Amino acid sequence: MKLAIYPGSFDPVTMGHIDVLKRGLKIFDKIIVAVGEHYAKNYLFSKDERVAMIGEAVKGMPVEVRHFSGMLIDLASKEKANAILRGLRAVSDFDSEFQMAITNRKFSPEIETVFIMTRGMYSYLSSSVVKEVASLGGKLEGMVPPNVEKLLRKKFS
Ligand code: ADP
Repeated sequence: MKLAIYPGSFDPVTMGHIDVLKRGLKIFDKIIVAVGEHYAKNYLFSKDERVAMIGEAVKGMPVEVRHFSGMLIDLASKEKANAILRGLRAVSDFDSEFQMAITNRKFSPEIETVFIMTRGMYSYLSSSVVKEVASLGGKLEGMVPPNVEKLLRKKFS
């Protein structure tokens, strides 16, 4: 069984994330979404909220969603994952993704990082854009799963 770990903030999960997951499932039998926390980031949604939102959006898919803290490669080797999955949108993503992949390889050479290139229609889409639009009362259709749209409306009402 081929297993990947898809780590990220997912604050909140967007259709871009879901698209990466769906396409990742053409390569992997199962994906663990590891919802983490960067020390330098402020989050709109708590970790519990982020986990619950993704869980609802991926119902029926061979995807497990869980909290994650600590070193990603420790989780990857504990789960015997074959790969770390990440998405790429623009050249601007490349630098930090490259750094992260090289660092993970240094710690754990046997785990590959696999990148899935965004679909054109999602190349502009990020959790930050979604929060910005939601805070201004704009339409979120097609940007986030329906359950996430509801929660965003509630947060900003
Ligand atoms: P992080 O804070 O770890 O970057 P994010 O939730 O912002 O967490 O992103 C998780 C991963 O999903 C990253 O690899 C990011 O590049 C990717 N991603 C986010 N949005 C998109 C999108 N619209 N298309 C493709 N990949 C995306």
